[in-house]
Amino acid sequence: MSDPIDQAQLNQLNQVQRTPKDYSVVSLKVCDECENEIPLERQRYGAITLCIECKNKQEQQAKRYF
Ligand SMILES: [Zn+2]
Repeated sequence: MSDPIDQAQLNQLNQVQRTPKDYSVVSLKVCDECENEIPLERQRYGAITLCIECKNKQEQQAKRYF
């Protein structure tokens, strides 16, 4: 038997791990998913590991949990 509240908390924890907010971390120069180049303006945000396309896909997948 799984408690729905515990499951919601787990989902939240997973999301925090997927989107790190540590801006001191240097961004990747190429996307971790598709190996496309990440634009310099985007790299400046710090801790960027995905190109805009893959980031959008990831966010859309995350929204399906709600
Ligand atoms: Zn990508």
